[in-house]
Amino acid sequence: MAYVISDDCVSCGTCASVCPAEAISEGDGKFEINADACLDCGTCADECPTEAISAGE
Ligand code: SF4
Repeated sequence: MAYVISDDCVSCGTCASVCPAEAISEGDGKFEINADACLDCGTCADECPTEAISAGE
């Protein structure tokens, strides 16, 4: 299951720069994670300043 980004995202781009799979891109009003590319590593969640990223269910 891929990680997901909540509405707490402030579009800072930190997650996209640390993702080893290049699975994160800027979407409409917030960044989005490509579920097919996500490796479930959790790196983005650790780096997000607003704690907007969590493991999906
Ligand atoms: Fe990228 Fe890892 Fe975050 Fe998935 S969990 S979006 S692979 S940094």
